[in-house]
Amino acid sequence: MLNATPKDQIERTGLTINPAKTCQPIGAMYAALGINKCLPHSHGSQGCCSFHRMHLTRHYRDPIIASTSSFTEGSCVFGGKSNLTQGLTNIFSIYNPDVVAINTTCLSETIGDDVGEIVRDAKVPEGKTVIYASTPSYQGSHITGFSNMCKSMVSQLAVKEEDKANGKINIFPGFVEPSDMKEIKRIAKELKIEFIMYPDTSEVVNTPNTGKYEMYPSGGTTIADIKDSGNSIATLALGSYASQDAAFTLEKQCEVVPYVLKTPIGIKATDAMVMNLLELTGGSVSKELEIERGQLVDLMVDIHHHYHNKKVAIYGDPDIILALTEFVIDLGMVPKYVITGTPGKAFEKEIKEVLEAAEIKDCIVKIEGDLFGLHQMIKNDPVDMLIGNTYGKYIARAENIPLVRIGFPILDRVGHSFFPTVGYKGAMRLIEKISTAFLDKVDMECLEEDFELVM
Ligand code: SF4
Repeated sequence: MLNATPKDQIERTGLTINPAKTCQPIGAMYAALGINKCLPHSHGSQGCCSFHRMHLTRHYRDPIIASTSSFTEGSCVFGGKSNLTQGLTNIFSIYNPDVVAINTTCLSETIGDDVGEIVRDAKVPEGKTVIYASTPSYQGSHITGFSNMCKSMVSQLAVKEEDKANGKINIFPGFVEPSDMKEIKRIAKELKIEFIMYPDTSEVVNTPNTGKYEMYPSGGTTIADIKDSGNSIATLALGSYASQDAAFTLEKQCEVVPYVLKTPIGIKATDAMVMNLLELTGGSVSKELEIERGQLVDLMVDIHHHYHNKKVAIYGDPDIILALTEFVIDLGMVPKYVITGTPGKAFEKEIKEVLEAAEIKDCIVKIEGDLFGLHQMIKNDPVDMLIGNTYGKYIARAENIPLVRIGFPILDRVGHSFFPTVGYKGAMRLIEKISTAFLDKVDMECLEEDFELVM
């Protein structure tokens, strides 16, 4: 497996191999699915749209809807205005969504289509909404695309109305699973907080099988709620890469105060989210949450000896792996490599702060890194565990290292769309996943005389 990956590392400037990211529009498509009765639309050639739908379908094992402007060579030369105009007419007459959320591909961005102008000229039926985000694939990653679509939801929909303060907190959950969004909502409800969350893909990409196909499932944030987010007290942006641009835009547009926090993975980040919500609303922690937190601490103590000093490589999307790095340190593990494919200097700084606070010195942090480079590092100085998406399974097999699948995409396991990794409950699930991976390996490989019933 991966026999062509040499141990010797050469500094690469022009070549990426096995990237730890994908392109912007898929993130924008995922964000758009978090609006109620929304059809994401890809303005470009149809290959991008098929690929992004396919990838999301493989990850969620649910139908993922999206339409495309289906550019031809002619559109590339003369622009995609007629494709999009005709596309919108067809979409509303055939598929009848309440909202169309348009993202762009590298093709329409390169030829310079003015999507805003095309939408303004198009005949949008009464009561229907069209929003658009610029998502050039040659900048950032799928997380940038998610962030850009969230920002467009704010800039094109949210309004502050005089004397209409709603007393609510906005929660921008970031690029997390539908199960995570549901768990964040459950925590907010436990704290008796009135909130508006968007985007919210729970019950959109993890629908029940009722025997009947629903093109627009019941989930997703309504347009009315997104508009009303301009009247809220404050915004909690969870994960700076995915959510802070939207929160800052809302502050500028509607004077809603933003608070940027880590994605609530692990005990510290969940505590920070809970405390921030309570400070804003003056409420108190519910008994149920107190019990959950206590159970998590109990579990952390119970398994500490399995985790102590274990070296781990973490790769994937910046918001997720930042919080995960902090959590594995709390479990007694040592992050050895932390790699994201998404560009942005802020990540390096934030990770370094977490590592310095824990006095961990020899961890390699790499932005715009790839899995080929990670494999080479592991060949030179191995780790005990890999944490990241499915693409790490090749390294896991080649080097006989257990892999815990967290992040996007997970194409070869199930559960992530139904069971959270955020919050205290999610942290308990993470501990179970990590422990099982470690101990299964010990059971399979230890000497017979060391094979233990109780571990
Ligand atoms: S990189 Fe460009 S061409 Fe490729 S899928 Fe993304 S948007 Fe489409």
